[in-house]
Order: sequence, then structure tokens, then C-alpha cells
Amino acid sequence: MSLYRDDGIVLRTWRLGEADRIVVLLTAEHGKVRGVAKGVRKTRSKFGGRLEPTSHVDVQLHRGRGDLDVVTQAETLDRFENLRLDAERFAEASAVMEAVDVVAPDREPDENRYRMLLGALRTLDERPAALVVPAFLLKLLAHEGLAPQLDACVRCGSEGPLVAVDPGEGGVLCETCRRGMAVSSSAVAVMRAVCWARRDPVPSPGPARAPGWVGRSSPGPRPASGRGGRRGGDGPCWPAAGRSR
Ligand SMILES: [Zn+2]
Repeated sequence: MSLYRDDGIVLRTWRLGEADRIVVLLTAEHGKVRGVAKGVRKTRSKFGGRLEPTSHVDVQLHRGRGDLDVVTQAETLDRFENLRLDAERFAEASAVMEAVDVVAPDREPDENRYRMLLGALRTLDERPAALVVPAFLLKLLAHEGLAPQLDACVRCGSEGPLVAVDPGEGGVLCETCRRGMAVSSSAVAVMRAVCWARRDPVPSPGPARAPGWVGRSSPGPRPASGRGGRRGGDGPCWPAAGRSR
């Protein structure tokens, strides 16, 4: 299979020589791939402006011998115009794309990861809300098997009151074990709602805010193995596996 076609989202791009560009795409069926778009920076490029970060495209690529494929066709499926014209929304979209770029291995298909990213971009484009990015990052961590422990103190197992959260520990902490960042019970409730929701990627915005570390542009430190984050695919944080294409 040297030629393949897929739906993809452009995560980032960079210049290659005078006229070409390297494009990193998260595709639905081929995982994260890198391709060269030849002549993309010429005014009469056949790709036009279709291969920009956040572009949702139907692409055809030629599988190269090395890491780089060659983009042979690209048709726009969605430009997310609102998102591109608003600096704040674009920054939020960049944060979710950067996080996905960090966690997604090359050429390992994961349709759930792809659908989560597409859903987040759509939401940022159509109905942005303060919790979209933190909720996405929590869900992404959960998807990668690194969800924070939220049901009991990550050090002693006490059910509460839970008063702090520490990403290094991998979850929430009780009064006795507290470290990291102070957190209100409503913030814990928001994180649980995000992580334990079975369906939708984005909770309705409420008065509570998720802790600051949840909104960073990268997924943050990984919990030490054997303690902390939930692992495996059957925990309560596993995202909905909706395949309604
Ligand atoms: Zn404790």
C-alpha cells in the first residue's frame, strides 16, 4: 500500500526549503503521520491554504521509504473559521493540538484520540467555553491511561475530605497527606464530571474551575508508575468510544 487516503487534522507545519512544507497530521486510520507538501508555498500551489494548523482535511499521501510521506492531494473538510480568526481560541486549539502531538506515537492508529481532537476543535469553533481545554486535557490523560485518581486520596486511600491535588502524585489528597495545590470540593466534582462522563467531551461551564495545572498546554508530568494515575482501558475515566462517523 504505497498510496493511501484518510481524514486528518493538521497539527503543525514547518518550512522545508524554498517552497515545500512538512505537515504533521493526526489521521483517523493511520495515526500521526508526517508528510511533505511540495510547492505548498508557491502562489499557485494546488494545496492553496488547505494545509494549515487546525485544518480538517481529506488527504491522500504516498508512503515514503522513511518517516516522511508525500502529500499528493488535500481537500478541505472543515476550516474552523471562527477558531482561526480569534487569537484566544486559536491559542486554545494550539494547546490541545500540542498535547495530542506529544502523546500520539507515529503511525499508530487510534480513532478515539482522533475523534476527541476533532470534537474539541469543533467545540472551540462553535461554542467555546472556559472548560473546553482543561476538560480535553483531562480526557486525553485518561485516554492515555494516566487519569488522575479522583475518588480517594492518592497516598492513603481516605475518601476525604479531599483538599489538594498534585499531578506528580497522580491525583487528589486528603487533609493529612496534602501537598501540591489546594482544591475545592466543587473543583474535584468538576474534574470527576469530566473524567467520569461517558459521553460528551465537554461539561457545561459552572462556577467551579478546574485547577490550573489542568489547563496547561502540555499534559504535565506523568504519575510515578505503580501509584497514582489509573491505568488500563476499563477505568471510569475511559472516554466514550463513539464511532458515529
Ligand atoms: Zn491521605
